[in-house]
Amino acid sequence: MERHPKGLYLLFATEMAERFSYYGMRAVFTLYMVAALFTMEGASEVYGYYTGLVYLTPLLGGWVADRYWGNRRSIIVGGLLMALGQGLLFLSACVVRPAIHEAEGAIDPAVDNGMAVALMVGGLFFLVLGNGFFKPNIATMVGRLYRPDDKRKDAAFTIFYMGVNVGATLGPLVCGVFEGDWMNPTRFRWAFLCAAVVMLVATGVFAWLKNRYIVTHEGVPVGTEPTHHEKAAKHQLSAKEKQHIAVVFIIAVFVVFFWAAYEQAGVSLTYFADQQTDRHIFGWEMPTSYFQSFPAVFVVLLAPVMSLLWDVLGRWGHEPSSPMKQAMGLGLLSLGYLFIAQGVKDVEPGMKVSMWWLTGLYFIHTLGELSLSPIGLSLVSKLSPKHLASLMMGVWFLSSAVSNMLAGQLATLYPDGSPKSLLGFSIDSLEDFFMVFVVMSGVAAVALACMTPVLKRMMRDEREKKEVKSEE
Ligand code: GLN
Repeated sequence: MERHPKGLYLLFATEMAERFSYYGMRAVFTLYMVAALFTMEGASEVYGYYTGLVYLTPLLGGWVADRYWGNRRSIIVGGLLMALGQGLLFLSACVVRPAIHEAEGAIDPAVDNGMAVALMVGGLFFLVLGNGFFKPNIATMVGRLYRPDDKRKDAAFTIFYMGVNVGATLGPLVCGVFEGDWMNPTRFRWAFLCAAVVMLVATGVFAWLKNRYIVTHEGVPVGTEPTHHEKAAKHQLSAKEKQHIAVVFIIAVFVVFFWAAYEQAGVSLTYFADQQTDRHIFGWEMPTSYFQSFPAVFVVLLAPVMSLLWDVLGRWGHEPSSPMKQAMGLGLLSLGYLFIAQGVKDVEPGMKVSMWWLTGLYFIHTLGELSLSPIGLSLVSKLSPKHLASLMMGVWFLSSAVSNMLAGQLATLYPDGSPKSLLGFSIDSLEDFFMVFVVMSGVAAVALACMTPVLKRMMRDEREKKEVKSEE
């Protein structure tokens, strides 16, 4: 197998550090809010908006990069903005005052934490903006290290995706050490400071090494500003390019259903881990939040296996097409929920089930994630016209923005004693709740699988036609 360009590993490390910072902050963020600033409901709302908005701004960041700045500069600006955002959270946690009334267990209105809230909101603003400049552009550059039709792209994005998840595993572990509580909310500042410093160092290292490593095999610099000529050119899209763009949009719509079900990990599946899962291992009770790092750990462990699987299938001429891999991802998500639905059959509220059910679900979901997420990035990179590549990455992340907001809404169906219903069906038990996701992702999987032949036709371009024919 031909080796990957060195730049891939610089992008791997930079993204790993950024995701460390993102997920490290995310792991303690709601805890910080409820320790001194908001009620649980208020904190969940802020969390939902934040995780939704971080995936909306990549549209802006992608557009600015394609039109004016190029990927490299956008990443540096994005990285600095995020470090500033984390820095403001650090300041917020420096000035915060204990505010929970001990006897009532609720926020005491007499305590004024206005400054801490203002600094927090400012911090979130810069994080949302910074992520917009960072996230689509780093992914676009991975693709740009290779020729458009390079067969190693799926493998490259899978390696890159491991970087994402090494960061997502380590961030919460390290920042989680600095959890404060209602008596000592200022302790959280060290978690935010840690996220800020890692982000700053990563941006510095990237800025220092980019010229040396972010180049193609032929030594052509990647992710630089669009040339004067490119900026001035009127970019007419050919019919084929329009079809390629349409494929990205169509798949992005299906992917909404993937992340909306997958992201239950941070909400309803965490309630489930907390209230209905026996977390004892040899007498030790595992903290609920640890479950959230299961998918990230599984990604790191399973990514090489999946890469190998595609490789072997490819050699036999049976590697599924990219849209089919997306459908398989959705199918596996559905299967994961079907698995846990079996586990909670006849379980009464308050009864606890073995942690194997949740572990099994996350294992199956991760197989789905690896089939869908890195392959999706690679697909976007293959199908986007060069001058719109970063903007198209923004479109891809837009589906995550919608999903994160939808995930919160769907989580409200989690059984809590009050009557719930969806589209006229009543949801009375945990099994019903999980079946919502079985059906949702199952239907999306089948529909996408059925559309695959059409999508493949739309994706094909004249140059590839012969190649695809010989593959079939
Ligand atoms: N978990 C991945 C990341 O943080 C993918 C997120 C997404 O596309 N929604 O990069």
